[in-house]
Amino acid sequence: MTELGGDLVQAYSATTALQDPHYIQARPSLIARVRRADLVVCSGAQLEIGWLPALLQKANNRKVLPGADGYMEASRYVARIDSGVRVDRARGDIHPQGNPHIQTNPHNIAAIALALSDTLVRLDPDNANRYRANLADFDRRWQAAIDGWERRALPLRGSRGITHHKSWVYLFEWLGIEEVANLEAVPGIPPTATHLSALTARFADGGADFIVRSPYQDARASEWLAERTGIKPVLLPLTVGGTDAASDLFGLFDDIIGRLLEARDDA
Ligand SMILES: [Zn+2]
Repeated sequence: MTELGGDLVQAYSATTALQDPHYIQARPSLIARVRRADLVVCSGAQLEIGWLPALLQKANNRKVLPGADGYMEASRYVARIDSGVRVDRARGDIHPQGNPHIQTNPHNIAAIALALSDTLVRLDPDNANRYRANLADFDRRWQAAIDGWERRALPLRGSRGITHHKSWVYLFEWLGIEEVANLEAVPGIPPTATHLSALTARFADGGADFIVRSPYQDARASEWLAERTGIKPVLLPLTVGGTDAASDLFGLFDDIIGRLLEARDDA
C-alpha cells in the first residue's frame, strides 16, 4: 500500500506478522479505523472469515463492505492452489476457496499490486497518474528482484519441506520445493502428540530437508520433531515484520530464501 499510494495513502495493518491471521480480535481501536477507512484490503478466500465480517459489521461503514469499491480481496487476483477441494468442516479449518496464504509467491504480489493500483485509481481518480507511476516504479524493481530471488533459490529446487500449517504452498510451488508433511494433522488444530510420533517414525531416516514454522506458531512441535529426526527447524517470516530482516516486501523474500539456503547448507 505504501509502495503504491506513497503519501497519498495512510495505511494501517489490522494484523501483525506475529499474530495468527486466522484469528484477530475486533478491538475498539480497530473498529474505529475501519469506520473511517476508504478501503479495506484482505487476503480473502476465507482467511479472515473468523473475524472480518464481524469487524465490518461493527464498523458500519458501507464504503468498505463486500461489493463496494472500497473492499478488495487480494486472492481474487491470483490462481489459488487447492481450490475446489471437497470440504468437511469436521476435518478442521480447511479453506474451501483454495489456500489463502497467497503472499508467499512474489508473482502473486505483482498481480495484487496491479489490482490494488486500479482500486486506488477508482477511489481517487484525481491522482490516477501518480498511482500509475508508483505502480510502474514498483513493478520494475519487483520484477528485477524476482529474477534475483529465482537465481539465488535454484539450489532449493527439489528440497523437501515439512511445514507447521499449510501456509507455504505458494512459496514451495514457486521454488520447486516439495511439501512432504504438515505438523498439523488437521489444518488449524495444533499438532497432536499422536501425529508427531507418526512423523518421527516416518522421518527417522531423513526424507525432509527442513521443518518450517511461522513466528506466531508454537516452536515446540517443530523442535520436538527436529530433535528426534535431525531435520533442521527453520523459522520463516510469513509476512512483513515476521523477522527483523523482513522489514518490507523485498526484505521478506530476501530473508525467506536466505534462511532456507542456510538450513540446506547445514543439512
Ligand atoms: Zn490457513
